[in-house]
Amino acid sequence: MKKYIVVLDPGHGGSDPGAVGPTGLKESHVAFKIACMVSDILVRYGIEIIFTRAGDTRVSLDERVRIANNSNVDYFVSIHINSATNPKATGTETFAYKVGVEGDRLAYSIQSNLVQAIGLADRGVKYNSLQVVRETPMPACLVEVAFINNPNEEQLLKSAEFLEKAAIGIAKGILEHIGIDYMPKEEEAMGWEEKQGLEHLENLVKKKIIDSPEFWKDKLTEPMPTWAILSLIDRITDK
Ligand SMILES: [Zn+2]
Repeated sequence: MKKYIVVLDPGHGGSDPGAVGPTGLKESHVAFKIACMVSDILVRYGIEIIFTRAGDTRVSLDERVRIANNSNVDYFVSIHINSATNPKATGTETFAYKVGVEGDRLAYSIQSNLVQAIGLADRGVKYNSLQVVRETPMPACLVEVAFINNPNEEQLLKSAEFLEKAAIGIAKGILEHIGIDYMPKEEEAMGWEEKQGLEHLENLVKKKIIDSPEFWKDKLTEPMPTWAILSLIDRITDK
């Protein structure tokens, strides 16, 4: 299977914070957090990620383009947070260089998945001659997740849960464009039903009511059919 390489380009950084929200939240910080979360998801699918900056550092647009051009890169996705003079400006938009190029379809895929994931207004895919999408030879787009100058959206951008949703939306969009099905991460933590079940199972084993815990352990999260409940009662009342 082909190994895909995606360049993630968190906007701004270092002495260039990008847009700053009413309470001081920096676009550069939010974009970097989202990019890290997107990376965490994509690597689960064997996709190699190249970052245009490794932390909170200032990297010029020329340098970002050079990083993309120097590798065997398949896709380039720049992550930004929007800002406008109107504090009521709201929603999500994604920029592609031109209508009809593959970067345009990538932009559509990211835009629709991101809007679905975070539920803000859909401002659509737009076209603009932005250096990082114009001078990158691979399909490229630039996503503006939400408006940091809008007090409501700035609050959302402070929430790790919201950023995770945004990252899932962006990652899903990239995966869908490549043709890979997104699967939600398997719950690593044990469900409460299973925890409860194990506790009761331990007690019943201690009380010597159940003599084969293994048999029940495998069935803790299964809804129990009536015959199994009857059989259990029957066994318990035998003792
Ligand atoms: Zn920006």
